[in-house]
Amino acid sequence: MTGKRILVTGAGGFIGHHLVKRLKKDGHWVRGVDIKEPEYEASSADEFEVRDLRKWDECLMATRGGIDEVYNLAADMGGIGYITANHADIARNNILINAHMLEAARQHDVKRFLFSSSACVYAQGKQKDADVTPLKEEDAFPAEPEPGYGWEKLYAEELCRYYWHDFKFETRIVRFHNVYGPLGTYDGGKEKAPAAISRKVALAQDGDEIEVWGDGKQTRSFMYVDDCVEGLIRIMASDYRDALNLGTDELVTINQLVDIISAIPGKHLVKRHNLSGPQGVRGRNSDNSRLLKVLGWEPKILLREGLRKTYPWIEQQLHQEGRLMSKREVAAAAD
Ligand code: NAD
Repeated sequence: MTGKRILVTGAGGFIGHHLVKRLKKDGHWVRGVDIKEPEYEASSADEFEVRDLRKWDECLMATRGGIDEVYNLAADMGGIGYITANHADIARNNILINAHMLEAARQHDVKRFLFSSSACVYAQGKQKDADVTPLKEEDAFPAEPEPGYGWEKLYAEELCRYYWHDFKFETRIVRFHNVYGPLGTYDGGKEKAPAAISRKVALAQDGDEIEVWGDGKQTRSFMYVDDCVEGLIRIMASDYRDALNLGTDELVTINQLVDIISAIPGKHLVKRHNLSGPQGVRGRNSDNSRLLKVLGWEPKILLREGLRKTYPWIEQQLHQEGRLMSKREVAAAAD
């Protein structure tokens, strides 16, 4: 076989599962590791192992056997509701995963290690305005990241830099900005805004009210998962060792996101703003200048386009769960 030997951690999760599929399509040998199996379809990895990567021995096992590259995507994470309510658990779980995975990969002579960081590392004081200036990589300092999840990501980024500095261990650092797409969590508390809103829209009848956290004027950019996977592979192959944004710079308010999603099934919905719901920073956007300079590429799938592929998948899941009436059932109920 001509491909590389690649380990993807978090392969039972959203981005990891998509990445494994793509790496297999590209002809690589892939081991997927996660604390759980993928939820919606079987993994296409050559080997899929259930392991708790907070544990050192498990990280040593995961990285065994001549692995060339590690995409370290495993993390305890969720949407804004989850990450604001679980600082201690998230910070402890993730620092254990990242510290052990880095060292285990180094001891096994892995050639490259990619760490999945987050836009949550950016200084909160620079995200107070909905009409935000897009964030450049250097805006993470002076440090004032999101409590818990963001502090851990920023520290793990530093750890990657130390490993390069002290051991010449090749690390790559990617800061994702809100990734969405099919096969992602859409319920249960860990889902993010595009999936949560898609679920609420799918479950609502035309003319209903749906709840929106905050006043809906907070802004974000969202990246479709295919762009994310393409970016990951390109960043891994690049020679750039410092942190890079990976996101789109198509800024929308959460109210606009609701409108774009409602337009897919053609529903007219009334937004009920829950001002006590968690909403995170006021505005966040990705400055892609450095990404463009390093890769000559940036994510390009428009939000409307990506949501047209994501919404039907969530709707179909809800149908399968028996939570959604078919058009015929709705008409019969109205008679
Ligand atoms: P996800 O929750 O779907 O995937 C993470 C996976 O890690 C899960 O399957 C989970 O079971 C696994 N995991 C958690 N604890 C583990 C443990 N102790 N041992 C082994 N596996 C464990 O999330 P995702 O959206 O696919 O995110 C992947 C990476 O990207 C994460 O590091 C996340 O912090 C980062 N990220 C994602 C986004 C986004 O918008 N999705 C944004 C910023 C950063």
